[in-house]
Amino acid sequence: MSIDIAGVTKTFGDFVALDDVSVSLPTGQLTALLGPSGGGKSTLLRIIAGLDTADSGSISIEGTDATRLPPQKRNVGFVFQHYAAFKHMTVAKNVAFGLEIRKRPKAEIAARVDELLKLVHLSQFSHRLPAQLSGGQRQRMALARALAVEPTVLLLDEPFGALDAKVRKELRDWLRRLHDEVAVTTVFVTHDQEEALEVADEIVVINDGRVEQVGTPDQLYDEPASDFVMSFLGE
Ligand code: ADP
Ligand code: MG
Repeated sequence: MSIDIAGVTKTFGDFVALDDVSVSLPTGQLTALLGPSGGGKSTLLRIIAGLDTADSGSISIEGTDATRLPPQKRNVGFVFQHYAAFKHMTVAKNVAFGLEIRKRPKAEIAARVDELLKLVHLSQFSHRLPAQLSGGQRQRMALARALAVEPTVLLLDEPFGALDAKVRKELRDWLRRLHDEVAVTTVFVTHDQEEALEVADEIVVINDGRVEQVGTPDQLYDEPASDFVMSFLGE
């Protein structure tokens, strides 16, 4: 099974942000969309999420045609760089939010929130407000919140971009660990070569609205498909 992106083109006015992109992201893997700023990574992620629609092409998620499905029917979880936590809600309430709007039973919600806060080591902070957490802890809360509804796919856009280098490294390990533990298909956007090479099973290199190469970190190093990939990884 996989997320299959077939012939996706997206324009903004005359500008071609994605140019006939076709790529398959295998289920269960941690995939990085890697490339320089402005290359089309976020646009592709938003199209996978259903937050934006392609001009042409199709998206299927686990064999289901998702091209015309709204985001809430795609069973995806998101984490963004500037995470919009509900400032007036406790950490536990923030994590519970997706379950509450789905009207899950109270006992089930409480148990699930407990489990998730344990998973991201925030149990002792469950009654705090987001402002009382560090930046790294807040992104861990964001991960727990995204995982709450048991998404088929977890999508992250530069999730750690706003944090300092040490916390970024820590969160990288968290992402890897959570991915392995929860076994959710994960796609994350980064412009940071080191981050992608260190954490991803597979990397999709995107530049100028096109896929330059798809491969494991080793494959990208050993057989870069273009001068662009070689120079980008070497930076
Ligand atoms: P990346 O995430 O790789 O940095 P994006 O997907 O955000 O790149 O953007 C790709 C290109 O599309 C950029 O040149 C950006 O300015 C343009 N773009 C993205 N979204 C819009 C929009 N809503 N309107 C106009 N141009 C956009
Ligand atoms: Mg982006």
